[in-house]
Amino acid sequence: MKVILAKQAGFCFGVKRATQLAFEAAGKDQKTYTLGPIIHSPQVVGKLEGLGIRALDSLDGLDHGTIIIRSHGVELKEITEAQQRNLDIVDATCPFVKKAQEHVMSLSKAGYGVVVVGDADHPEVQGIVSYGGEKVFVVASGDEVSRLPKMSKIGVVAQTTQSFENLKNVVGECLLRGGEIRVFNTICDATAVRQEEAKELASQVDCMLVVGGFNSANTRRLLEVCAELQPRTHHIETAVEINPVWFEGAERVGVTAGASTPKWIIDEVMNKIEELNKSD
Ligand code: SF4
Repeated sequence: MKVILAKQAGFCFGVKRATQLAFEAAGKDQKTYTLGPIIHSPQVVGKLEGLGIRALDSLDGLDHGTIIIRSHGVELKEITEAQQRNLDIVDATCPFVKKAQEHVMSLSKAGYGVVVVGDADHPEVQGIVSYGGEKVFVVASGDEVSRLPKMSKIGVVAQTTQSFENLKNVVGECLLRGGEIRVFNTICDATAVRQEEAKELASQVDCMLVVGGFNSANTRRLLEVCAELQPRTHHIETAVEINPVWFEGAERVGVTAGASTPKWIIDEVMNKIEELNKSD
């Protein structure tokens, strides 16, 4: 049985950077926390907990220590609160997310109504929106632009994981409403590249494994695109969940992993499949 690992499997740039910053902070001698889980990997969060870094839901009751801001950012009021509480801040917000936040802020200051293309319930979007003034609106698609109030100047930014197609549709609808439009393409292609590669791999193998947190949206999306092409696709968080039955009769097995899956977990999965391969 041949086992093929997707080239882009695992940590993207922003998640890698955030995780490194968190592990570096763990070496310091003051109490350290993350605001929400640093990334969507229960195993990484568990490791950090073992090093004394706890994930908090809020800053309530905190008056000293270090707070690490997660890779997809937080709301501006939470940064302000951390400053008011005199906490040391390690900002692990991905620079691509940061860019989107900065564009919303500067567009709002320049008098633009801002349209954020994305999922209103996603914490990254809630963080981005918080950097604007009163006239910031989230739309999931072009169809939703018609319900927005009239604006003479419109600025458009996107949640980093949006598709280019969707951004284009929203911009097209904004153009139909006239006025002045400024568009910032804040899409990061890390997730799209992983999905394209996973699709290609899933179509070439007899069984596909997608490794990543069950709470990770980008991992679940990888699962969906693979399952569309390969019915024998399985989602696991760690190697212990592998069921040898999955590989019966398979000549080629593909493995991919979400952008928040650490290398050590991917290595364990690859080793486990190789072990099963040898014992056949
Ligand atoms: S997917 Fe892109 S924007 Fe999101 S954390 Fe990774 S590098 Fe940053």
